[in-house]
Amino acid sequence: MISDHQLSNIVDNANANIVSIINHYGPELDTSSQRGTRGKALCPFHNEQTPSFHVTNAKGIYKCFGCGKGGDAVDFLMEYKGYGFIEAIRELARYLNITINETASSRSKDYKSPAEIIDGIIKVKHSIRKTGEARLCFSKKDAKQLQKKGIKNLLHIKTYRSPQVELLARYAKDAIFYPEGLNKQKFFMALRITADEDLDIKIAKQVDDQPVHWIDFVIKNFSRTKEIRHKCLRIIAGFDSDLKRAVERKYFSKKWNRNSKESLG
Ligand SMILES: [Zn+2]
Repeated sequence: MISDHQLSNIVDNANANIVSIINHYGPELDTSSQRGTRGKALCPFHNEQTPSFHVTNAKGIYKCFGCGKGGDAVDFLMEYKGYGFIEAIRELARYLNITINETASSRSKDYKSPAEIIDGIIKVKHSIRKTGEARLCFSKKDAKQLQKKGIKNLLHIKTYRSPQVELLARYAKDAIFYPEGLNKQKFFMALRITADEDLDIKIAKQVDDQPVHWIDFVIKNFSRTKEIRHKCLRIIAGFDSDLKRAVERKYFSKKWNRNSKESLG
């Protein structure tokens, strides 16, 4: 297995040299005006007369302004050569003269690589890095269905306190997570992860086709400490304004009722 550290190293190196990589594996690029750090060519993915396929080392990407195809060095090999993700990584490592050390690591027996903790995390990380987004699902059944639909940036989380969630909090903190297949129970789990781990999970406005579950839940369960309440209010701040108002009304009217009772009593 390729360690995560090595993977990042290969991907970063490849993207910093994407011009020479595409020159080598793909169409010959015209790099005359930019000293080899940028290049353009006729797009290899669609027919055209003037070059709209651009590559830049500084951004580590290719982009065609004709057909819209774009991505990084790994994407290029996957798209152009039809390689799988790991195949593309191995090919890039070869090109960059990076030796992949796949012997068992010297870490303790308890050490689990990110790929062992979350199935598919490397692919997802790759996708998160590009789009800043990932989908979360909370059951095997949902995961299978979504995979069938061809959804790539998918993570399967089993419980809200798990090594998987800790890994995500460490690994993909800046990403936005969209939960999939939420029922009431899964929805609570997503909220817990958001509040406890500070991940940015955007929750849809309807759960089980009922938009109100979460309002009560937030109020009942997330008012335990000031800190958690603040996080909750931040989650709520990300919702549509009509729902936000509904929560605020309910939350503040309860608080107001309680305060007025206290002051009376
Ligand atoms: Zn194109």
